[in-house]
Formats: sequence, structure tokens, C-alpha cells
Amino acid sequence: MTRRVDLLGKPLKRRHSVVMHNAAFEAAGIDGRYELFELDAEAVPGAVAAARGDGWLGLGVTAPYKRVVADLVDDVEADAAAIGAVNNVIRTDDGRLVGINTDAPGFQIGVERAMGRPLGGADVVIAGAGGAAHAVVFACLAAGARKVTIGNRTVATAAALAERFASVGTGALSGLALDDPAFVTALGSADLAVNATTVGMLAAGLTIDVAALPGHATVFDLVYVPPVTGLLAAARARGLRAASGSEMLIAQAAIAFERWTGVAGMAEVMRDAVAPLLADPTVTA
Ligand code: NAP
Repeated sequence: MTRRVDLLGKPLKRRHSVVMHNAAFEAAGIDGRYELFELDAEAVPGAVAAARGDGWLGLGVTAPYKRVVADLVDDVEADAAAIGAVNNVIRTDDGRLVGINTDAPGFQIGVERAMGRPLGGADVVIAGAGGAAHAVVFACLAAGARKVTIGNRTVATAAALAERFASVGTGALSGLALDDPAFVTALGSADLAVNATTVGMLAAGLTIDVAALPGHATVFDLVYVPPVTGLLAAARARGLRAASGSEMLIAQAAIAFERWTGVAGMAEVMRDAVAPLLADPTVTA
């Protein structure tokens, strides 16, 4: 029997996850199939319930259903509950569904690779306070970041995010407006600056003034379509280390694949499989 994983979301325009997971199934010799399932909100409870059946390994979950699926599964792992988002679901052998979050560990793996050092002790500045920023802030604090400064266009959302994670880790945490002078000041001592907004993908512009960063800083843009955003180009022009979100995408997928199948070490296979899509200029947001 072919084992299934469906990705629930709407809209579902990108095939990156399909290509990565199906390449991993093939490489691992598993009769499995990962497919996109674009659906309306009222169909989500039924789709989640169906995944309790034999033949399912689990589900992928993306916008706008990462919160709602947390209420439909039997258990939510502690990290996913703290972040407030489930981006994958595992079906256990007895048909129970467990919600997990692989964005946070995927971010940590991707960003530590980009920085060439651990997140522990780092001074981090993050632009954005949406769903992805929740996973990023949690990952930084849980990994022992020394200081995390969040800047968001809507300041109330940044403040709420800082309040939500006030008890995670021991790092100093603050939520500011993106245009607050204190945000630019924070950039001056940052080891890492992260763009966790849709700017660079859905809107033009830069959320981080790379001129304000110290020379040793790394810039990490969660956006991976296009592969080189204006922010990455500006950071590289300044001679800074800079990486797109593609390594986070690959790392979170490899973690999910391992949780569904027990097969680890598929990041390399996934990286090779998704490379043409990541480089394809006709793939747009
Ligand atoms: P989201 O929940 O919709 O949040 C969007 C964020 O972008 C909010 O902070 C929003 O600010 C900000 N924003 C939107 N337009 C802006 C503008 N013109 N100027 C300044 N800020 C603006 O989205 P998300 O799910 O967090 O995703 C954010 C990005 O991360 C997306 O590009 C997504 O593709 C990427 N992502 C990548 C990975 C990966 O594996 N690499 C994983 C997850 C997400 P307001 O609060 O003011 O609206």
C-alpha cells in the first residue's frame, strides 16, 4: 500500500515540498507519496480526520491552517504549542495524530550553517512578527540567544510576540516598530539579522539596513522565492555572510520526513532535488 502525506493549505502554488519529499521517498525505497491538497477552511477537519486511517504517514500544514490544525489533532508537542503553530502532523501506529513544528529546528539548522557558529550567545535582530517569526524567535531563545530584538511594521504584534516568549530561555527580548530608532541601534551589535517578513517576496524593499550591521554579522532571509532578494544582494555587496531561507526549507522538510518514516539524513537528497526549482526564475511567489 502506498503511504500518503498531503500538504493542507490554500493557496498552494509552490511544488518545492512535493519535489523534496517524493525524492526522499524514492531514495529511501519507501512506497510513499506526498501531494498538495488545496482546500477551503470548512474541509480541513475532514481532511485531518481522514489522516487517522491506515495508509497515512501524516500531513504537512501550511498557511492559513497552521493554527487551526493544532486544535484538530490528538496531541501537540510542547514546542509547537509554545510557538502556536503546527506545520506537520505525524500519524502514530495506533492512528493518533500528533502536531509538531519543524520550522523552528529547521531555522536553527539553516541559520547555524549560514553563520558558521551556534545560535547560543548570539545577539539577534528579527524583522517580522507573523507565523514564521514566531518559530524564529522561539528557536533563538530556546537555543540560548543572548538578546533578541523584534521589529515589525505593526508594533503591537511585535510587542505581543515578545510578551508571548518572555519566559523562554534567558535572553533579553524586546518588540519594537521596524522604524523605531532603537531597532537600528540594535542592528549595530547584531551577530545575526533575520528577515521573517514577506518583504522581498511579496513587496519590494528591505526590512534591515545592512549598513548598520557590524562586519561579522550574518544576514538570513527566510524568503527563498526569489533566490536572491534585495536584502541578500545588499548584504553581499557589503561583504557580509548572507543566506536565503532555502536551507531552512530543506532542513525542516528533512526533519518532518524523519518523523514520518524513521529515515534520517535526507537533506542532501532533498537539496539536490529542489535545486532546479530554487534556481528557476519563472517560479514566483
Ligand atoms: P505572515 O504570518 O503573513 O507574516 C507576514 C509578516 O510580514 C508580518 O510581520 C507583516 O507585518 C510583515 N509584512 C508584510 N508586508 C510588509 C511590508 N510591506 N513592510 C513590512 N512588513 C511587512 O507570513 P509568515 O508565514 O510569517 O511568512 C513570512 C515569510 O517567511 C514569507 O516570505 C514566507 O515565505 C517565509 N517563510 C519561509 C520559510 C522557510 O522555510 N524558508 C518558512 C516559513 C516562512 P505586519 O504584522 O505589520 O502585517
